[in-house]
Amino acid sequence: MRIARFSAGGEPRYGLVELAEDHGENPESIAVLNADPLAGPVKLTGERVLLSEARLLAPVIPRSKVVGVGRNYAAHAAELGNPVPDEPVLFFKPNTSVIGPGEPVICPPETQNLHFEGELAVVIGRICRRVPIERTAEVIFGYTIGNDITARDLQSSDAQWTRAKGFDTFCPLGPWIVTHFAPDDVRDLDISTTVNGEARQAGNTSEMLRGVPELIAYISAFTTLLPGDVILTGTPAGVGQLAVGDEVSVSVSQIGTLSNPVMAG
Ligand code: ZN
Repeated sequence: MRIARFSAGGEPRYGLVELAEDHGENPESIAVLNADPLAGPVKLTGERVLLSEARLLAPVIPRSKVVGVGRNYAAHAAELGNPVPDEPVLFFKPNTSVIGPGEPVICPPETQNLHFEGELAVVIGRICRRVPIERTAEVIFGYTIGNDITARDLQSSDAQWTRAKGFDTFCPLGPWIVTHFAPDDVRDLDISTTVNGEARQAGNTSEMLRGVPELIAYISAFTTLLPGDVILTGTPAGVGQLAVGDEVSVSVSQIGTLSNPVMAG
């Protein structure tokens, strides 16, 4: 299933995205759910909304946290002059940094070097702590796309990455959450990023130094993960600068494309 959070003029609602391939008579519609599927059991209301008449929102607003993973692709670590770390490098992005598809990334006046980082994002479905590596699939709700927007100059000048990666709007998520992947499906997904339609990043999740199960086990060993928490799994090589007026799009195969304009703060 592809679960979207959307607005069709009123309060945010949830629904199942039906693409042409699996719902030929009424392509690209949303079958509306009665509630947030991350909060408990849901059912279809019977109502349908055309995707073209809905505004997709961030598919999840993390209740407590977005956990980022730094330097999880060797080629990306190398391009910024960093060694491959012995242990995963972790950081938090506040949930106030999350925006949805089409919402503007605001370039704040504090940075002169705003970067995109296209990433596979994992959405946690169950409260969990110290998840054994072989049981991590049980705590995954699904997968979406993240753009780990980073003020690269502040990442270097600040002692910690909190500000460089935590500004409001620095965590676009979307366009929806795919819940039907088996663990093996996410080991070979293409990740690509374009800026104004020009190719910038082209990687594959098979290049991750630590895969999704390893990351969930490592992260949940120190912090309780809650339903709706998000893990950004790291970015492949090819990161680069964004300018005001740019349109940045991150695509992950079998999930979709997340696009956001960049605006001045
Ligand atoms: Zn990142």
